Parts: sequence; structure tokens; C-alpha cells
Amino acid sequence: MDLKFKRVILKLSGEVLAGKKGFGIDDEVVLTVAKTIREMVQEGLQVGVVIGAGNFWRGRSSKRMERTTADYMGMMGTVMNSLAMADALKFLGVKNHMMSSISMTQLAENYNREKAVSYIENGSVVIFAAGTGSPFFSTDTTAALRAAEIDAELILLAKRVDGVYDSDPMLNPDAKKYDRLTYSQVLNQRLGVMDFTAITLCMDNSIPIAVFDLNQPENIIKTCMGLNVGTLIEE
Ligand code: UDP
Repeated sequence: MDLKFKRVILKLSGEVLAGKKGFGIDDEVVLTVAKTIREMVQEGLQVGVVIGAGNFWRGRSSKRMERTTADYMGMMGTVMNSLAMADALKFLGVKNHMMSSISMTQLAENYNREKAVSYIENGSVVIFAAGTGSPFFSTDTTAALRAAEIDAELILLAKRVDGVYDSDPMLNPDAKKYDRLTYSQVLNQRLGVMDFTAITLCMDNSIPIAVFDLNQPENIIKTCMGLNVGTLIEE
């Protein structure tokens, strides 16, 4: 397989794992996504995974709570999702390591860059749990940060639509899909693909972002071969 991008970070929003239930974890969905990850590994990709927690909790969900507490709760949500994904991958026989940015050594290794790179080079999937470990950040930013740290060549941003549109394609049938965007266009037009911190981190480190529909998993491999099936955000 002729891969243009070999080492990638797959960013899944928490909502993906909730499936139709809209909240919590749908076992079947987790297994389906894990099968996609298995296929990625089989095709020779080196895969890091970052999962959000919108299916449980986001820091900004509470108006009253201290923001830092609410954010730590969000990070705990990512740990639950990561455990579910690690379990599904193990069930499918896919080697994986879950590393947490917040120390909880009973259930995950502490995040360590060198170890993460060595696992990934040896064909293990690495699941990066607990976000960056710091409040006021997002898991999109975590994906950008870990991608920069482990020299990932691409961030695969799984969405429920097949790319970035100029308006909501669910509401507007004439919405136009972008094949390619620059980081500056995303920022200036406030396209809301990722938060600003995440986009600027990708821009500063020249990490391209491919936005694609997770319901068309074959597009992951196509994207990694350099075919533009969703929307590619780069310089
Ligand atoms: N979070 C955080 N620091 C991080 C990553 C995440 O505080 O480095 C918290 C934050 O409260 C966030 C929540 O975890 O709202 C879940 O992450 P996110 O909103 O990115 O999840 P997604 O929208 O991708 O499901």
C-alpha cells in the first residue's frame, strides 16, 4: 500500500461513541470503530487515538461549577471512552497501549512521549487518554499536541459529515463542500472545524488535518494514500 501519511492521529469526538443513544457508550459503535482502527493497522498505518468526552460531559456544560473542576470531569470522561476503546481493540486482537495524561497507574500508563513513539513504531495503537491533563484545553488541542510530539504526519478528524461545508449540510441542501482549506481560512472564516488553539498548533507545526465521515471508513485509507475525499486543511 502506497501511503502518503503513515503516522496519524485519529481524533474521535465523544459523541461518536454514543451512537444513536446520544449519551454514554454504545458497545456496538465502539466495536465498529475499533474494527476501522484494526484495518488501519493492517494497512500499515501507525495509529494514535484521541477521544473526546462530549458523550458524558464537557467542561463548559456547567454554568455554576468551577471551570477547572468541570474540565477535570471532562478529562475523566475521556478516560472512560479510552478504556472502552482499549477493551474493544483487545477483543479484536489489536495490540494497544492506553496512556493517560493524568496519573492513574492502576488502569493506564502515564503518558510518556518516548514510550508512545516506541509503541507506535512497533505497531501498537496508542490511546491518549485524559486530554492534555490541563483544564481549559480540548481534546482537539490534545490531538494537535500529541501529533506534534510524536511527529504524526496527519490528524484524521472524524465527523458525522464528509468534510467542511460553507453552511450546515443537514439544514441547507445547497451547502458547498470545501475540498481544501488553509489554516488561515478556517480561522478567519470561523469555520468551527476545531477550536482556535488546536488549529493554531497545527498551523505552527505544519500538521495537516483531514476531515472525513467516520461512517465511510474506507475514506481513511484513501486519505492516507493522498486522495482528497473529505476536506484537507493545510498551509
Ligand atoms: N478537557 C480539558 N483539557 C484537555 C482536554 C479536555 O479540560 O486537555 C475537558 C474539557 O472540559 C472538555 C472535555 O474534557 O470539554 C471533553 O473534551 P472535548 O470537549 O474536546 O470532547 P469532544 O467534544 O471531542 O467529545
